[in-house]
Amino acid sequence: YQAKQSKSGYAFFDSVRDHHKLQLLTLERDLRQAIENGGLELYYQPMVDIRTTKVSCVEALVRWRYPDLDLTSPDKFIHVAEQCGLIQPLTRWVFNRAVEQCAQWRRAGFLFDVSVNLSVMNLHEQDFVDYVMNTLRQWEVEPSWVSLEVTESAVMSDPSHALEVLSRLDAMGVRISIDDFGTGYSSLAYLKRLPVDEIKIDRSFVIDMKLDNNDAVIVRSTIDLAHNMSLRVVAEGVENPETLRLLTALGCDVVQGFFVSRPLPYDELIRWLSNSAWSAKQRPSFSGRDGK
Ligand code: C2E
Ligand code: MG
Ligand code: MG
Ligand code: MG
Repeated sequence: YQAKQSKSGYAFFDSVRDHHKLQLLTLERDLRQAIENGGLELYYQPMVDIRTTKVSCVEALVRWRYPDLDLTSPDKFIHVAEQCGLIQPLTRWVFNRAVEQCAQWRRAGFLFDVSVNLSVMNLHEQDFVDYVMNTLRQWEVEPSWVSLEVTESAVMSDPSHALEVLSRLDAMGVRISIDDFGTGYSSLAYLKRLPVDEIKIDRSFVIDMKLDNNDAVIVRSTIDLAHNMSLRVVAEGVENPETLRLLTALGCDVVQGFFVSRPLPYDELIRWLSNSAWSAKQRPSFSGRDGK
């Protein structure tokens, strides 16, 4: 005890570290339970094709129903999952649920696609590609209905490995989308060597583009360059009609943001779709009789 007192500084730091460790252990236990026992929920945020003005895809965004409100946002707990080895079961839960619900809205006559976020660690799982394939098969969902979002930094952290995994997913027919584009240090020229179909311009550039001319210039040149490389462009963080108008003028392909809709739980999404101008419920007419 005496020794401890004489180095009270260390004792203090030790107890802070122990406290932190304990917190992480509690979190790990709670998150594992949430993944296993239905404590997670998916919200879906519509993405609208500017040309048709209809929803073409929805992005699955995970939520954790947790008493600690600070942690319900994925920006916080995805990081925890990555730290304590839970990102594999978490992503698999998300992917499985998103594909299951995609099959469900397809059956209800809504023909838009689904987009799922991956962590860089998922790209290093031995059997990730097989998991994707088996899940699509299980729910009878076409690969072409699915996009996988990987961040620019995830891809750049190990480009040759990313090339290998993304090529196998691409060969399966799944679309690859580069999320948060513009926040990393890659160039589009480099990304073009990967089997990428789409980039999502990070919302930090889009949110202020009507006020900040620098942001507007970045968005414009990114769209032009991406189009020259036959990549589709999504703008995230579209919060008002002026921004939508600007992006339309710049030739952006797809918009996503609070102006269209916040992320919604499945049932609310379906309700929203039934009275939204952005919604196209296209029933395929197998008989070919009513072609209207
Ligand atoms: P993200 O993939 O870039 O997703 C878009 C985020 O922007 C979402 O935050 C969405 O709610 C928010 N957002 C959408 N429109 C607007 C807007 O108009 N204005 C503003 N200010 N924000 C908007 P959310 O749901 O909190 O997700 C945060 C991040 O967490 C996501 O960013 C994604 O990187 C990660 N994430 C979410 N779900 C998953 C998941 O299932 N797996 C993994 N690995 N990451 C996930
Ligand atoms: Mg995303
Ligand atoms: Mg993003
Ligand atoms: Mg983000």
